[in-house]
Amino acid sequence: APAIDANALTKEYNNGRGCRDVTITVGKGEAFGFLGPNGAGKSTFVKMLVGLISPTGGNASILGHPLGSLEAKAKIGYLPELYRYQEWLTGEEVVRLHARLCRIERTLADKRIPQLLQEVGIGQRGKDRVKHYSKGMQQRLGLACALVNEPELIFLDEPSSALDPIGRMEVRMILERLKERGITIFLNSHLLEDVEVLCDRMALLNNGAVLRHGKVSEMLSQR
Ligand code: ADP
Ligand code: ADP
Repeated sequence: APAIDANALTKEYNNGRGCRDVTITVGKGEAFGFLGPNGAGKSTFVKMLVGLISPTGGNASILGHPLGSLEAKAKIGYLPELYRYQEWLTGEEVVRLHARLCRIERTLADKRIPQLLQEVGIGQRGKDRVKHYSKGMQQRLGLACALVNEPELIFLDEPSSALDPIGRMEVRMILERLKERGITIFLNSHLLEDVEVLCDRMALLNNGAVLRHGKVSEMLSQR
């Protein structure tokens, strides 16, 4: 089964906005870019795929499991846009709480958490309170949380748009390593550059609808 198989997936809010008739397939191990301006419907689409909101039309499966099922949710990671952490906790404590939510056994968590913090470049700063973290560090902490259940598929909602150029580069390098490890990536972004460097295929979204989709290399040569 593909990582994501969405057929005419639609969410219409009460005000008529949202996203409509999105049909895309993302293969396992692929990095897929969902590119569009603010308000295009990118977050809405991802919120449906992770099970946060229910579609008003169409359907989708995640790794062969129905949308919103526990089987699907257990295999995915999600980094929401501008996630806020309890800033009185240390970075390590935040990841540990996420591990508990995912019911990861204590001894396994003890082993995995330092590795994760290392992987996202927080390392020794894991003992510092989140209130002392930069935006980039908070975003990378979010990535560590999203990875705590070793997901096969990870959804990233504008992971680097609020960051300065260095922060962006750091996030990009982490995502490239995840891709090399075979984790499927679904990346929401309004930045062409982010999609261009990481993704194999992409869809262009505007006003809630997909305008075009295809290989990034082909889409960009048609500009
Ligand atoms: P639904 O139609 O899915 O029930 P609602 O219109 O009731 O959604 O809004 C749900 C939440 O989203 C509310 O908390 C509301 O304040 C917020 N919301 C409403 N309009 C917007 C908007 N244009 N952009 C972002 N959030 C919004
Ligand atoms: P993007 O992630 O591409 O910025 P969104 O999915 O957040 O786009 O929003 C798509 C459209 O739906 C926007 O016009 C936004 O204002 C509207 N919207 C988002 N959430 C809600 C909501 N809860 N209720 C009503 N409208 C919403």
